[in-house]
Amino acid sequence: MDSAVKISTVAIVGGGPVGALAAIYFAKEGWKVSLYELREDPRMEETVARQSKLPSKSINLALSERGIHGLRGASPHLVEEILAQAIPMGARMIHDTAGNQTSQFYDIHGKVFNAWAALGLYTAQHINSVDRDWLNTKLLIEAKKYPNVDLYFEHKLQYCDLRKNELVFLTRGAEAHVTAHLIVGADGAHSQVRQSLMKVITQVMDFEQQYIDSHWLELTISPWTASDGERDFKMEPHRLHIWPRQTFMLIALPNSDKSFTCTLFMPKSMFDNLQSNEALLEFFKRFFPDTIQLIGKDELIRDFFRNPRSPLLSIKCFPYILEDKCVILGDASHAMVPFYGQGMNCGFEDVRLLFENIKTKRLKIALYDYQNSRKVDLNAICDLAMQNFVEMRAGVTRRSYLLRKKIEEF
Ligand code: FAD
Repeated sequence: MDSAVKISTVAIVGGGPVGALAAIYFAKEGWKVSLYELREDPRMEETVARQSKLPSKSINLALSERGIHGLRGASPHLVEEILAQAIPMGARMIHDTAGNQTSQFYDIHGKVFNAWAALGLYTAQHINSVDRDWLNTKLLIEAKKYPNVDLYFEHKLQYCDLRKNELVFLTRGAEAHVTAHLIVGADGAHSQVRQSLMKVITQVMDFEQQYIDSHWLELTISPWTASDGERDFKMEPHRLHIWPRQTFMLIALPNSDKSFTCTLFMPKSMFDNLQSNEALLEFFKRFFPDTIQLIGKDELIRDFFRNPRSPLLSIKCFPYILEDKCVILGDASHAMVPFYGQGMNCGFEDVRLLFENIKTKRLKIALYDYQNSRKVDLNAICDLAMQNFVEMRAGVTRRSYLLRKKIEEF
């Protein structure tokens, strides 16, 4: 550990992607790391899923350079392994109601992506579709390789007494009290660590939470399977597929098992209006006709009425720290709507930037400088994410936009 840093034990609350990455960074710097997660240990499921070569079912995420840079700081070989499992997406694929598809490349030299992708090389700018649970588990496995890391599952943080550096967990019906020099809150949008920070009487916290009028629900496009069992993608895999319909939209990201995970984003009232199988099919025939065959009628009905629908929220707050005792990272400090595909990427960036400070400064100053340099960027990306909802569901269909894209691709 850097000699400037006096603190040696860290309790990380939350074993999501950001908490797991933070554990690796702290471990590399020689801290004694204890990570507490309320869910069960996902590494067991990983073993079963890996043996059968089937990725577990979960949302897939777009991993971008912002997040990759954060991962690189943990371990370059980890980045290679993650990217080997990810599917590069070099463009959006816009689906209109007549079933026509138009590519909008992310790179100004979009065609370069196609040319190199044909050779299995991805040189032009792109984002990467990766299974969230798989990535999360991979990071936890990597963290546990360090002898100075302990992982505790089924530990639900009840509250922190930040004056005493104490955390109180509920685990299998019993209370557990632990202390650490530094408490890291990586416990997501509904962060309990943030709640405890808010209650500190010696400092005030600004807090802003906004639910948007859109819920999300997951559907699946399974792989096309030949009679000999060979599987293939039913659509172009190296694209982020979008069916933009002005006030609502469907998107689909490819998975390594050749399926696509689709997410339907729609106002709650529209979900509520679709109460019967007939109404659902009529709606899809009208707005997403090409997807009925891709998803399958029965699967569409089953998943639409069975899968959970979740709301979307955006959270801004400040400060993110308390002296040299506590810092909140990832969604705990900046939950954003998912339309910019940057929530997790930003959380990885938080960890990288926090350590740029921790490595060179006394902890109290490091945390202070981290939060002050981060605030403007985090607020900006939350706003951009909100704006990109309009861009994805409506802006991409503007004639001027399509014309500019056509010119760029020419
Ligand atoms: P979380 O993933 O929420 O993890 C927090 C962890 O803390 C969880 O494991 C939870 O169980 C645990 N926890 C919570 N409370 C407690 C407690 N009291 N005690 C102990 N443990 C606790 N981001 C991208 O970068 N790219 C994308 O393409 C993208 N797409 C998205 C699509 C959708 C539909 C959604 C909803 C989000 C998307 N995101 C995307 C955002 C991304 O999922 C989040 O930003 C990311 O998961 C945040 O990671 P985190 O570790 O900070 O929080």
